[in-house]
Amino acid sequence: MSGAILTLNAGSSSLKVALYAECGERQLARGHADRIGPDGTLTLTDADGAALPVGAGPVATHRDALDRVLETLARARPEDRIAAIGHRVVHGGIAHEAPVPVTEGLLDVLDRLSQFAPLHQPHNLAGIRAAEAAFPGTPQVACFDTAFHRTHPFVNDTFALPRRFYDRGVRRYGFHGLSYEYITGELARTDPALARGRVIIAHLGNGASMCGIRGGRSVASTMGFSALDGLPMGTRCGQLDPGVVLYLMTEEGMDAAAISDLLYTQSGLLGLSGGLSNDMRTLEASAAPEAREAIDYFTFRIRRELGAMAAALGGVDAMVFCGGIGENSAPIREAVCAPLEWMGVVLDNAANRAHARVISTAGAPVQVMVVPTNEELVIARATRALTGGEAAQT
Ligand code: AMP
Repeated sequence: MSGAILTLNAGSSSLKVALYAECGERQLARGHADRIGPDGTLTLTDADGAALPVGAGPVATHRDALDRVLETLARARPEDRIAAIGHRVVHGGIAHEAPVPVTEGLLDVLDRLSQFAPLHQPHNLAGIRAAEAAFPGTPQVACFDTAFHRTHPFVNDTFALPRRFYDRGVRRYGFHGLSYEYITGELARTDPALARGRVIIAHLGNGASMCGIRGGRSVASTMGFSALDGLPMGTRCGQLDPGVVLYLMTEEGMDAAAISDLLYTQSGLLGLSGGLSNDMRTLEASAAPEAREAIDYFTFRIRRELGAMAAALGGVDAMVFCGGIGENSAPIREAVCAPLEWMGVVLDNAANRAHARVISTAGAPVQVMVVPTNEELVIARATRALTGGEAAQT
C-alpha cells in the first residue's frame, strides 16, 4: 500500500479532483464534475487518459461527485491510501502568503473571508468539510489563489477609497495565483534568466486574468477585490465603471443579488455574443457578428491590459499564454499579438499555429510563449511539502 495525495478544486457548480503519487509529482488519475445539479456530468480518467467507470446518472451535489470519484478510485487503485488532501481555496485574505495546514481555527478565518468571495469561498470550504468527513484525521492543506499576489506594492494593492476600507480588507487581492505560481516555477526551471526579468502571464480560460511579474514576484494583477475585475471572461464582465452599478441600482431597480447574477453569470463573452455562448470554441466557429464582436472585445481588452502591465513593470521581457484559450487558440494569440509589434512583440505565425512553446520570432525583443498551466500540481506539491512527508509513509 502506498500513500497518495488527493487534490480538490471545488467551484460553484464544478469539482476537479486529482490523485497524485506520494512524491506529489506524478498524476495517477483526474476527475471533473461539471454543471453539478440535475444535469451534472462526471468524468474520471487514469494516468494514461483512459476513462474509469463512474456510474450512470447525473451528479446532483459536490458530495455525490466526490463519493463517486472515491468509490471508483478505491476499485481501480485499491493499493492507494489517501495520506493527505490539498485544496484550492480562492481567498486567503491578507494574512496568507503561502499554503497552510487546515485547522479549525483556519476554517473560521476562511469562513469570515466568504464575504469577499461569496460565490467561490463557501464551495471551497464545503470541499474541505466533505474531505474531512470522508477521511477523518487525514492532514489537509489549503492553497490560496490570492497568496501569490501578496507581494503587490501598496499602489497595486489599494483603491482610492477612504483608508478605512483598505484597513477592513477592501484591497486588490488578485486571483489565479496557483496558475501563476506554476508558470513562474516552470520559467525558473527552463529559462532562469527570463524568470528573473519582467514577465506578463495571461491566464485565459473561462475565468481570465493577467499578472505582471518582476524577479519572480507578482507586481500587478488585472483581477482586484473580486474575480470580476480586469479582462472579460466567459460569463463575467471584467473591468466596469462603478457608475454602471449605481445606475443599475437606482434606475433599473436591481438589488445586489440581481446585479451579482448579471455581472458573474450573464456578462462577458456570453453577454456580448447576445447569449450565444460563453465558450470560445463556439464563438470562433460562429458566423454571427455578435460572436466576432465578443472576440474582438476580448482581445482588445487583453492588449489594453498588456500595455498597462508593461508600464507597471517598466518594460517586458516575456509574455506567456496559458489556460484553455491561451494554450489552444492560435487565432486569439495572433489577434492579441499582431498589433503589438511596436512594443517588440513579433509573432512567428507558423510556431503559433503549431502551438510551439516559443511563438515569437528569434531575436524579437519580447519572447512570447505558450506554457500549459497545472494548478493541481502546485496543490499536490504544497500538500506534500506541508504534510512533512506523511504522504510518503504507509
Ligand atoms: P479553462 O477554463 O482553462 O478550462 O478554459 C475554457 C475555455 O477554453 C473555453 O472558453 C474553451 O472554449 C476554450 N478552449 C479550449 N480549447 C480551445 C480551442 N482549441 N480553441 C479555442 N478555445 C478553446
